[in-house]
Amino acid sequence: MRPAIFFDCDGVLNQEPGGHGVLVPDDIRLIPGAGAAVRAAREAGYLAIIVTNRAQVAKGFVSLAGLETIFGRLRQLLAEDGGIVDAIYFCPHHPERTSGGAPDFQIACECRKPGTLLLRRAIADFDIDVARSVLIGDSLRDIGAGRAMGLASYGVRTGFACRDVERYPDRAPPVPERMFADVGAAVAFCVTHPAKHGQAGLPD
Ligand SMILES: [Mg+2]
Ligand SMILES: [Zn+2]
Repeated sequence: MRPAIFFDCDGVLNQEPGGHGVLVPDDIRLIPGAGAAVRAAREAGYLAIIVTNRAQVAKGFVSLAGLETIFGRLRQLLAEDGGIVDAIYFCPHHPERTSGGAPDFQIACECRKPGTLLLRRAIADFDIDVARSVLIGDSLRDIGAGRAMGLASYGVRTGFACRDVERYPDRAPPVPERMFADVGAAVAFCVTHPAKHGQAGLPD
């Protein structure tokens, strides 16, 4: 079994564009050091797996084919800095019915983070060692999904910077075990402080 680092996408590897999110490949702008971070993760023996909510599909802003071109650009830009992504798992759903949307994808699902189905699929497909694996996200939705799976779950101060507490008006938001300036710093910590038994790496 291998450990994995699960990366959120927007706000972690590429800049969170705001608005409706990434709609075309040109909207992908890497966060500095993201490609090197993915490379460092793999060189340390981790699988590099992206888990991402893509509600733009349900909302009718992006087709599945369009999404593949967006992911292609992301993979290409990361690879320019040596960052090879092992797999991308995405949720195309959104629970709201909106006009102009794609009805097939306008459903309540288990894969939209903080749902855990994307993580569970990846863990089964790659026979991943959960106890040694880590999730890195910029949204509390990412952190919620990671913690629900028992993953060490780290936040970054790029993107939403895990400040999206308004998503939790009536219950305590999930708390990242650690916060880092960016994905590069988070991966640097992971490779020097491996997670064990789902607990965050020990402090220095
Ligand atoms: Mg994000
Ligand atoms: Zn879904």
